[in-house]
Amino acid sequence: MQQKNVEELYEWIDEAATTIEYQENATYLEAVADAMDILFHRTPFEDMSDLLKQQLEKHLKEVSIEKYEKEEIRKATQLAILKGMKGATQQQHLITPDSVAMFMGYLTQRLFPGNEALALFDPACGTANLLTAVMNQLDREVKSYGSDVDETLMKLALANANLQKNEIEFFHQDSLRPFLMEPVDFILSDLPVGYYPDDIQAERFTLKAEEGHSYSHHLFIEQGLNYVKDGGFLMFIVPNFLFESDQSSQLNTYLREKAHIFGMLQLPESFFKEEKHGKSILILQKKGKQTNAPKEALLAKLPSFKNHHAMADIIGQIDQWFTKNHPS
Ligand code: SAM
Repeated sequence: MQQKNVEELYEWIDEAATTIEYQENATYLEAVADAMDILFHRTPFEDMSDLLKQQLEKHLKEVSIEKYEKEEIRKATQLAILKGMKGATQQQHLITPDSVAMFMGYLTQRLFPGNEALALFDPACGTANLLTAVMNQLDREVKSYGSDVDETLMKLALANANLQKNEIEFFHQDSLRPFLMEPVDFILSDLPVGYYPDDIQAERFTLKAEEGHSYSHHLFIEQGLNYVKDGGFLMFIVPNFLFESDQSSQLNTYLREKAHIFGMLQLPESFFKEEKHGKSILILQKKGKQTNAPKEALLAKLPSFKNHHAMADIIGQIDQWFTKNHPS
């Protein structure tokens, strides 16, 4: 992976998006999705003005996507998306940070140490940054599914996957509604946190609130368990307070019945503006006939990812934990 290539491709996307943004009166983020789609299909959209078509055709002559590796494409895309999200006010427009996505890729490799083909599903895939970062680290056949309710993010995710040549089947829907899908080996997701407004849909879930709105992050965990195979794994980014909220005893009882808690790793505080917004990586295994709970759960507070010394140390401890509790 070459940083120079990441920057070069980012600049191409940024220039195309800026041109589209001004001429089409779109938001920068929507324009990034269009620029990526145009780059993939190598032609401007039919309904664009002649002037814009000409500008984009000229710009297309300056780029050859074949030259770039998957990770260079993912990182260039991520830079453009981050620029677009800076100005956006919507709270849900949050991309999973690169270093966290890479770390989750490492954990995924430890959870699935063999080379068998895997089916993955991210039910809150957003831009597919997390999903494709993990896919790119798995050196084997991978089939993925992604779902998100946000239209712009879905467009970005689709173009992102196409450009990286990653096979992902997308569902643009509320992920707390049913899916027509076979259970997968692995569910991974950076979960939306907060209340789920649709009380009628929530009724289908064991983890619905006894009173008022349910927590969407609780319902997503249950939904994940509905779509993973017995013995399959789930990895979620969740709030640190997951097991300390007013509805957590319900969650505890439910998880004890359905899953083994493999671990909970608290992300570095430096990622979050306020302590109350801190998050952790929760790892679960869905119970199956052949599964056993690990002797001890993997619990740790992660150091700053920039502190290479401390990171190497914690990775050593995590590796040891896996050797003892989940040998390959
Ligand atoms: N991992 C993503 C990425 O790398 O871009 C970011 C995920 S973001 C933290 C959470 C996502 O949940 C947002 O993209 C939001 O649109 C989505 N979301 C929130 N409620 C949803 C629902 N009911 N169904 C589907 N997606 C939902």
